[in-house]
Amino acid sequence: MVWVVKLEEVLDGKVVSRRKVMTIDRPTVISNIEDVGLRVADGKALLSCIQQVLVASQFEHDAERRVACPVCARRQQLKDYRTRTFDTVYGRVTVRRPRFRCERCGPSSVKLAGQSTPEFDAVRAKLAAHLPYRVVSEVLRELLPVDGGITPTTIRNRTFAVAERIGQAWTASSPAIVPLAAETLTCGLDTAFIRSTTPQKNRHHSVLVGVVEKGRRRRAFAGIQSESRSVTRLIRTHLESMGYTDSTMLTVLTDGDEGLRNLVRKATRATIDPVLDWFHIAMRIQHMRQTAKGLKTRVRTHVEAKRAIQEELERLHWRLWHGRTDSVNQSLSTLAHSIRRFRYHRKRHRRMTEAPRSLWVMLHELQRYVKNNDVVITNYHRRQRDGLRAATSLVESSVNSLVNHRMNKRRQMRWSEHGAHQLLQVRTAVLTGEFERLSLPSERAGVRDRIELAMAA
Ligand SMILES: [Zn+2]
Repeated sequence: MVWVVKLEEVLDGKVVSRRKVMTIDRPTVISNIEDVGLRVADGKALLSCIQQVLVASQFEHDAERRVACPVCARRQQLKDYRTRTFDTVYGRVTVRRPRFRCERCGPSSVKLAGQSTPEFDAVRAKLAAHLPYRVVSEVLRELLPVDGGITPTTIRNRTFAVAERIGQAWTASSPAIVPLAAETLTCGLDTAFIRSTTPQKNRHHSVLVGVVEKGRRRRAFAGIQSESRSVTRLIRTHLESMGYTDSTMLTVLTDGDEGLRNLVRKATRATIDPVLDWFHIAMRIQHMRQTAKGLKTRVRTHVEAKRAIQEELERLHWRLWHGRTDSVNQSLSTLAHSIRRFRYHRKRHRRMTEAPRSLWVMLHELQRYVKNNDVVITNYHRRQRDGLRAATSLVESSVNSLVNHRMNKRRQMRWSEHGAHQLLQVRTAVLTGEFERLSLPSERAGVRDRIELAMAA
């Protein structure tokens, strides 16, 4: 049995034309689950046919409407035809467009920019945010009736074009999308590394990952930081999108790296409130705790020393959490004493075993870390009590979701500076759920207004 798909064209409530699109031949006796419904090939063919018919019809009507001059409404003369080909989600279409010329007003033409529909660009870019370009190409070929614009190179280029669009959408200033001014903002920054395509120049690219927070709202961003590419604009854009103004009190949470804080200073040209990210201190202490837990106790002195170490680590944690950097040294000397008790448990084994030794090393690294960051260690306990953020575990998770899952070393991928930066813009937009609004012009209007109105209410 066959089913016939027809497309009716309805104008002002009347059917003006009817076209057969496709016949589908499927069995009426179902003896196998395979016999049920459309197959992928049918679906692809159907969508492709509808697209061809629809586009042809749209352009026919368009040509009829354009005969009249848009300025003086007189009938224009046909100049010539131009053939245009572009890619859509449902296949490549080729159309002939007439060009007209008004005797009085001159030529009139409406240019259709681009080689593919923004939606197709968006689909390709969105998939590329998650998958390698080569895989995107295979997925598209598998599911959609696409016959153009799906080589990995084209997908990459279109993704870059979308990234460009997203960048412009961020910076586009329209009175309708100015966010409410923020009194305080928190910005957490960290760095990640991805492999470079030019190992002779630099083995890795440095990826800056940031999260801006205003109350419960947050926004992540990422970009490549290098000699030739500055991310200060990126930082500025995202701070402003969260309501940063010259009078905003900006807290910057980072690891011990002064470079990251300087980037924000450069981006804002203002003073900031720098705070060492508690996350990085907590991680160090956590490592020490685990190592202490693994200490082997062969003799009684070891049992005592291990307990003393574990207790002292808890005290150290408490003191640092309360911002008491001065008492850290005391804690460290107590710990050093206990660790030393692991050294000489037998005359024959004068060397420390592995665990106490690494604890010893970590201890000194922590000491150096705290000393170097003395001025940016704060009372985290008080911060948290006041409802302020003490740690940027969010940045860590952003590094993972934005960078590692798509671009990390395990995938053996190498990245050009430009390519990585552009893909990061797309990936950020996708993961923050703002991709459609930023990449598709038709989606852009109005959405942020509603967000801001909801915030103000
Ligand atoms: Zn005219």
